[in-house]
Amino acid sequence: MFKRVLIANRGEIACRVIRACRQLGVESVAIYSKADVESLHVKMADRAVCVGEATNTDSYLNLANVLMAIEISGAEAVHPGYGYFSEKPNFAEALEAMGVKFIGPPVSAIESMGDKASAKLAAIESNCPVVPGSEGVVATESEAIEIASQIGYPVLLKAVAGGGGRGIRRVNDDNELRRQFKLCETEAQASFGNGDLLVEKCVVEPRHVEIQILGDEHGNVIHLGERECSVQNLRHQKMIEEAPFAAMKPDIRQAMGEAAVRVAKHVGYTNAGTVEFLLDKDDNFYFLEMNTRLQVEHPVTEQVTDLDLVHLQFLIASGGKLPLSQKDIHLKGHSIEARITAQDPDQDFAPSTGKITHWAAPGGRGVRMDSHIYSGFSVSPYYDPMIAKLIVTGTDRPDAVRRLQAALAEFEVGGIKTNIPFMRRLVAHPDYVKGEFSTAFVPRMMQEAVNG
Ligand code: ADP
Ligand code: ADP
Ligand code: MG
Repeated sequence: MFKRVLIANRGEIACRVIRACRQLGVESVAIYSKADVESLHVKMADRAVCVGEATNTDSYLNLANVLMAIEISGAEAVHPGYGYFSEKPNFAEALEAMGVKFIGPPVSAIESMGDKASAKLAAIESNCPVVPGSEGVVATESEAIEIASQIGYPVLLKAVAGGGGRGIRRVNDDNELRRQFKLCETEAQASFGNGDLLVEKCVVEPRHVEIQILGDEHGNVIHLGERECSVQNLRHQKMIEEAPFAAMKPDIRQAMGEAAVRVAKHVGYTNAGTVEFLLDKDDNFYFLEMNTRLQVEHPVTEQVTDLDLVHLQFLIASGGKLPLSQKDIHLKGHSIEARITAQDPDQDFAPSTGKITHWAAPGGRGVRMDSHIYSGFSVSPYYDPMIAKLIVTGTDRPDAVRRLQAALAEFEVGGIKTNIPFMRRLVAHPDYVKGEFSTAFVPRMMQEAVNG
């Protein structure tokens, strides 16, 4: 096991990884920006190194500064968390050159899955179904129209370098496609530094179902079952995730799990990763993308498998063998995560910043809080608005839903606006309670609210 690990991230995930360090007897080093001096991850870590000014590009995304912090900290390994450098091959490469272990997959696997076009290609090569669409990048508008006429509208224009729900645009006919193509390219170039687009059939009211993968550096790859993440906001960002998917048919679970393992093996994957799929109403599933990192919603998988994914990431990165095989993986109970954000539901989910004057988080049996927030902490405008992950676990889905409703009712935050009132309404909605929803659920629910 490592002696000292640096966590190249902030917020709840930095705290999450520091906890794992403590449990494993590993020294932790935090990095922080000048806006994060009072942050919990800085207080929790054994040591902390400042990496620059408040804005991400000046600090957490300043490669030279982060590499310098790693150098002076004497860390043997780096955990990248999610976002930031977690899926940047040049970061993993730089660490390799320094002789520091990247706690994640090999550079080649990050590259294979790094853009959505090459990832789809890898899936096709692994005999894994993909959403019908262009074979790779579409260079011109007329090429896009040609493909759309073959697969039929509606289609999505997708930035191959997009992420976090950004860079996806639906078009319903030739005219719309003509209007949007250049715009979409320009936007992708500006946002992701890569204007490449692909065209994909828009699957109607799908479920988002994803498979958690674990691979060691000795050739063993297993999966830990699925998570259901169809409760997404208007920007395709996940709001609520569950494990397992309550309506999953055992044969689909097996087929999807095996497909995900095939894809992972094909690209030489190691460490933790997630293969995302769309599942349509006829139980067809399609590869969407692979996230080559720890996922925001990993705790629900931990709850139902009774495994600690960050411990396992450390074990794998330090050369250990997976202590389990596929037959040892059993899912027990049901777990649900709600992403609590500092956003005002009454102002179109605009970020809400400022000092937290009151923080009464829920607790009790089956309630887990992954958060970096405390009373007196100031939520700054510079970073992601997620302030907590509320994770509840019950014997089955109805039990977990009741716990979630009760926990949200108990949750009090003062000083800033949060999405908690919206979440309370959401989890009380009959379709949510019944488990009958698709990715179209939240947009529809919001429309219902407007219509009265
Ligand atoms: P996950 O796939 O782990 O559930 P998401 O799909 O929500 O995560 O987001 C994908 C990535 O984009 C994550 O690594 C997350 O840190 C990052 N991300 C999400 N929202 C934002 C944002 N508003 N600004 C910057 N990065 C974000
Ligand atoms: P990101 O990198 O932003 O996570 P994804 O490709 O994983 O992008 O897609 C995010 C979400 O967008 C999906 O969970 C789904 O709700 C929606 N989506 C993506 N592709 C399709 C598609 N082909 N048909 C319908 N919905 C889609
Ligand atoms: Mg995704």
